[in-house]
Amino acid sequence: MIDFHCHLDLYPDPQKVVNECIAKGIYVLSVTTVPSAWEGTNALTKENPRIKTALGLHPQLARERGFELTLFQTLLPKTKYVGEIGLDGSPNCKAFWQEQVNVFTAILELCEIAGGRIMTIHSRNAPSEVLDLLENKVVKSTPILHWFSGSFKELSRAIELGCWFSVGPAMVKGTKGQNLISKMPRDRILTESDGPFVQVENRAALPTDIGLVQKSLAKIWAETEVSTSAIIHENLRNLLT
Ligand code: MN
Repeated sequence: MIDFHCHLDLYPDPQKVVNECIAKGIYVLSVTTVPSAWEGTNALTKENPRIKTALGLHPQLARERGFELTLFQTLLPKTKYVGEIGLDGSPNCKAFWQEQVNVFTAILELCEIAGGRIMTIHSRNAPSEVLDLLENKVVKSTPILHWFSGSFKELSRAIELGCWFSVGPAMVKGTKGQNLISKMPRDRILTESDGPFVQVENRAALPTDIGLVQKSLAKIWAETEVSTSAIIHENLRNLLT
């Protein structure tokens, strides 16, 4: 199983979740929301080659923590994964839209200078604005749109720009998400939990819930669960080579 967008550091007992992932051999991209969380989160899983820690600065924290961009720059050489980054156009985040754009732009530029990174990107209520910046700023990095919820037109544009997608429990549940997934290239899809922010069965989603996501994905693709899992693993291999 592959969980390519999970906030391990934000569970009440991160070590317990890490131990479960190790026991079950789950591949995890552990994302962070601020650069100052990276060292500690990375230390949780350093010994396990299947769990990687991404360096992030979440758009919802762009105003409060924009000053951590300096630390972001310092830590960037230590990892090839960046996230969670992006833009959020929700009403409560519009108040600091310009700070969000400044932070996201700076990060995309730093990643290019560093030779490119694998990036997991938030685009809620701002898919076009995210795509505009990716189009203008990204050549060497690989953008993965996590929980993409734009229109079909925006999806087509994202595909043309070479974006990948990570899909999770909330997306596979609704009709809109399922329709979007059915139009995404199968060779550019990964699975994610986005735990603990997403709820599954009235509790925080866990990397172990990826089985449920694979099950739904298999239905959408009219594939068996085994071949669905094989496709996702093949995708991860291709992403990393
Ligand atoms: Mn997230």
